[in-house]
Amino acid sequence: MAAIDGLPPLRDVIARHGLDARKALGQNFLLDLNLTQKIARTAGPLEGVTVFEVGPGPGGLTRAILSLGAAKVIAVERDARCLPALAEIADYYPGRLEVIEGDALKTDFEAMAPEGPVKIIANLPYNVGTQLLINWLLPRKWPPFWESLTLMFQREVGLRIVADESDDHYGRLGVLCGWRTQAQMAFDVPPQAFTPPPKVTSSVVHLLPRSEPLACDVAKLERVTQAAFGQRRKMLRQSLKSLGGEALLAKAGIDPARRAETLSVEEFCRIANLL
Ligand code: SAM
Repeated sequence: MAAIDGLPPLRDVIARHGLDARKALGQNFLLDLNLTQKIARTAGPLEGVTVFEVGPGPGGLTRAILSLGAAKVIAVERDARCLPALAEIADYYPGRLEVIEGDALKTDFEAMAPEGPVKIIANLPYNVGTQLLINWLLPRKWPPFWESLTLMFQREVGLRIVADESDDHYGRLGVLCGWRTQAQMAFDVPPQAFTPPPKVTSSVVHLLPRSEPLACDVAKLERVTQAAFGQRRKMLRQSLKSLGGEALLAKAGIDPARRAETLSVEEFCRIANLL
């Protein structure tokens, strides 16, 4: 397998720094640098781009992003044990890797965003992945500080992110993602690609900000989708009863006999805007 840089193989890095994977931190490491390059390439050209990465771990994806020419990587890692391994990468790419020790859920990425293009690329810890995605969908300013999000999830979550009303996986997450982004499934990654292997298949999802944003208050949108999908088998006249039921649906021009899973994101926004 061709090396992507002159740094040691990740297996050696992990052994030398004693980075045995911890389940509580969602640690499933990718050791194949060709695979991490494939993930990084999904984000498109990286020259001149600052990349935010969450959970670099021993640095497999970080190395791929840097090898593909990103101007800078700013990586947030919670596990202090990984910092010496990441410092070796920072030495190899002088001035191009900044590592912040901390919890990505408490990190204000928007405030850290520099001038110029920013992309987010991450093999996310599964226990915090969905919440991080939601945080990135709700920055203070829109268009957002990021040009794209290229993120690894459990396949099941990935399917919910990209789902629309033609799809069984459509639900609250699909509406929220569809409201602000165009989300696409890039490719699957089998459990054996990770050390240790997780129980399920993973998927890389690529999200771009919607070119025509749908004006809608997210708290209202959440109230509608929560009620509608909370009783997804019921007709909307029933599931949206507490929000205005038939009268609300009549104002929105939506047949009250329909079910949540048949409504487009635009229709959910139309209802939310009438609350
Ligand atoms: N990027 C590496 C790779 O692809 O091999 C590691 C990915 S591993 C699935 C997730 C990483 O996220 C781990 O390094 C873990 O320590 C880190 N992590 C877990 N929770 C975190 C949090 N709340 N904030 C920042 N990093 C976190």
